[in-house]
Amino acid sequence: MALGCEGLLTLTIKMRVSPELSSHQKLLNLMRRYREGLNHAIRVVVESKALSLGKAHKLLYNVLKERYNLPSKVAVDCYREAIAIAKSWLSNPDRGRMPRAKTPRLWLTYKYSYRIRDGYVELLGGYKLRIVGWDRRYDGYSSGDARLMLKDGKFVLEVSKHVPKPVKYNPRGVLAVDINEKHVVFGNSRTEYKFETAIERALHYKLLAENLQKRYSSTRYNVWLRRRGVRERVGYFHKRARNIVEDWVKKVSHKIVSLAKQHLYAIAREDLSGLVENLRKLPRKHRVAILLLSYRRLEHWIDWQCEKNGVPLIVVDPKGTSSTCPRCNSKLVENGYRRMKCVKCSFEADRDTIAVLNIEKKALSKMGGSLTTPTAPQMTDVNTNRCGEPMKPLKGTLTLQAGRRSAPFSIFQTFI
Ligand SMILES: [Zn+2]
Repeated sequence: MALGCEGLLTLTIKMRVSPELSSHQKLLNLMRRYREGLNHAIRVVVESKALSLGKAHKLLYNVLKERYNLPSKVAVDCYREAIAIAKSWLSNPDRGRMPRAKTPRLWLTYKYSYRIRDGYVELLGGYKLRIVGWDRRYDGYSSGDARLMLKDGKFVLEVSKHVPKPVKYNPRGVLAVDINEKHVVFGNSRTEYKFETAIERALHYKLLAENLQKRYSSTRYNVWLRRRGVRERVGYFHKRARNIVEDWVKKVSHKIVSLAKQHLYAIAREDLSGLVENLRKLPRKHRVAILLLSYRRLEHWIDWQCEKNGVPLIVVDPKGTSSTCPRCNSKLVENGYRRMKCVKCSFEADRDTIAVLNIEKKALSKMGGSLTTPTAPQMTDVNTNRCGEPMKPLKGTLTLQAGRRSAPFSIFQTFI
């Protein structure tokens, strides 16, 4: 599948499938036993550090077969998945509680445990599931391992696909992304777009959850908290907050990457790992948690969309991007609400604009291209919502060396 590409991207295709009526219950029971077996296996793998197949096999194979009544091949798939989940959890510095599978499921090794034929998915053990709906864009690419999940009472097969990475184009210039609590600002010395963040909207649900928790956590109400209704409602609010952030991040990153691609620009973003580290040290308030989540997910989706669309991406050092004059490099001083001014060259602009200009400048110098000098008057009266307007090309052509950024999209990320 090598088409002059820079390696492969792994993405996940979702298919709605429907088992035959006669085997429906049997399959569901198997998926439920698998879930229980998996949760047991994750615990064992983490607690005994059994991250190799050999070690996991010794500890788990017979238990999974006998106690959880899994067929041999399914038992193997089960501890393999447990190792994958344990590894990804252990490598996450921000990990919370040990991961647990909540929905009935089945891990399927490509070729050995499943195959797709004539509109049906055939599983080892004789199960046959009709494919109801399916994204056909990736039909021509090779499939990898898959997961069968039960989501809201429906069977969904998630198949990983290996798709060649598109070759990145030579950008005509840079569009810089800056994120703060209120906005994502996207632009350069010629143009600027502003998108509102979803932080306030998500926070609303976090606060609802907290209020509900508070109300029922007094000793008077302890019994209530244990009641399923309240617990579920609290869980629902937390989930809703996370979904709001995720939806927003996907939408904004898609918009940003499409704009860059349409006009053949590279995207520049700050390396926010330092910022994320600092945020992590703050007390675990809801606002901090949502900020952290938003920043991390936005980085993730921008990077992923860039890889998928062949858009060059430049990551720059965030040092001084919001406090240095983009024209003369002097230190800026505050000049009213969210405005900064350079005492030396009298350049003046909005904080967000300054960050975007500095990120653009850093990216251009990283690319080794010529630098266009940003001019203050142009930026101060820039229209912030000119999404439909075509962008003017920057002077000169810049060549970017397609860096070897590996951003493998792990299908484990959506696992639990
Ligand atoms: Zn200056």
